Amino acid sequence: MKRNPIQRIAIYPGTFDPITLGHVDVVTRGLKLFDQIVVAVAENPGKGPMFDLDTRLHMVAESFANEVRVEAVQFSGLLVELARSHGAQAILRGLRAASDFEYEFQMATMNRRLDAELESVFVMAREDYTFVSSRFIREIAGMGGDVSELVPAPVLHYLS
Ligand code: ADP
Repeated sequence: MKRNPIQRIAIYPGTFDPITLGHVDVVTRGLKLFDQIVVAVAENPGKGPMFDLDTRLHMVAESFANEVRVEAVQFSGLLVELARSHGAQAILRGLRAASDFEYEFQMATMNRRLDAELESVFVMAREDYTFVSSRFIREIAGMGGDVSELVPAPVLHYLS
């Protein structure tokens, strides 16, 4: 059989406020399916993020400093446009619980309407990270709790 030289690229969008080991797990699983993952850090002012865009971008980039197949970019416009500009064939997202499904289903359906060629691909959270969310990290760290086993090492000093 002939080898297909096409690079499989996925965009992994999120707010990453901050990036957690749950997010890292999604990327690690994604790297088994794709040659390259573009982690797209959303400006998302509507969510009133704790960390500004630049800091969130730095945290993602530092977390994957040793992984040449992962790139961190910022975005504010339409995800489908960003995917096109990076030559991505897929959107990568993670699922923790049934509660994630409704929103993810809506977003995937909307994105499919905007670009029928772009496929949404979901990976399941690792069992010990199903409860990990950026919101809990912010709350626990804000109260002085230990989150060192829940976020990548470079993120810790941003939380202290
Ligand atoms: P958003 O603000 O768009 O929900 P997030 O940064 O919170 O962005 O999450 C981005 C994606 O990562 C979402 O698909 C979310 O379900 C997934 N995700 C977040 N935390 C985890 C986790 N602990 N395990 C698996 N997937 C996760």
